[in-house]
Amino acid sequence: MALKDVMHDIEGYDAVLTEIEVARRYGTDYTAQQGKLKRIIDSLHPKALSLKVSEISEATPSAKVFRLVAAGGYLPPFQAGQYINLCVELGGVRTSRPYSIASPPSQSAYYEIAVRAVPDGFVSDYLLKNVAVGDEFVSSGPAGNFYYNPLFHGDDLVFLAGGSGITPFMSMIRETTDRGLPVASTSSTAAARRMTSSTTPSWPSAPHGTRISPIPWSYPSPGRAARGRPVSSMRGS
Ligand SMILES: Cc1cc2nc3c(=O)[nH]c(=O)nc-3n(C[C@H](O)[C@H](O)[C@H](O)COP(=O)(O)OP(=O)(O)OC[C@H]3O[C@@H](n4cnc5c(N)ncnc54)[C@H](O)[C@@H]3O)c2cc1C
Repeated sequence: MALKDVMHDIEGYDAVLTEIEVARRYGTDYTAQQGKLKRIIDSLHPKALSLKVSEISEATPSAKVFRLVAAGGYLPPFQAGQYINLCVELGGVRTSRPYSIASPPSQSAYYEIAVRAVPDGFVSDYLLKNVAVGDEFVSSGPAGNFYYNPLFHGDDLVFLAGGSGITPFMSMIRETTDRGLPVASTSSTAAARRMTSSTTPSWPSAPHGTRISPIPWSYPSPGRAARGRPVSSMRGS
């Protein structure tokens, strides 16, 4: 049987052909649809967010967790591991700093960021010492390609982080446990050890199935340059 005949046997094929023929002859007017897709995409991925601090808790002696809710509208979805760029205006200087979202994507009512003190840090110092519940910020929408994807990254995860580098992993670990995915291990420095002993509710305790293995760090100090995102460590072990 020729291919042409087989196609005609498919239900709806002739109707589609007729529609194509009509569209070819008379053209199609998409004016009413113009901008519709862009509006949907913009609502899912807004360029700027208005955020309000709803809770502040001390995570460690040098870090605080800020819970941020939408000051208007809603918080767009994100992937565990993504960050927001928090904008501040300090002494007439407008600037911004990226902070990873530490809360899991399954929690759509708020984002939590954990800010660690940086010696002489311009923004971190302000956030830790001056910001109070009720303060408002503008931030970017969630961004970044360093995120956990269960399809690509599998079940056995090894996280390597130092200092505040733990924050994207907090979101990933919370997501894997929220979704009941099996997680093999978490390896990190002091921050991870605190996860096992923390009394702060917003700082997650090590979930069942997660092993915290502090690694003896051979660098003198992780510091700013060594703080990078260990993307290559996010592989199945
Ligand atoms: C993707 C991403 C996610 C991040 N997530 C987090 C997070 O979850 N939590 C977190 O705490 N941090 C996070 N950070 C780091 C954060 O964005 C800031 O870099 C951090 O808070 C320090 O900002 P700051 O304004 O306090 O410090 P800055 O003022 O930018 O200073 C940083 C350091 O540089 C030194 N310095 C500044 N200016 C000079 C100069 N002119 N000469 C010499 N030295 C100078 C300062 O003394 C300080 O030690 C993240 C960064 C990235 C890129």
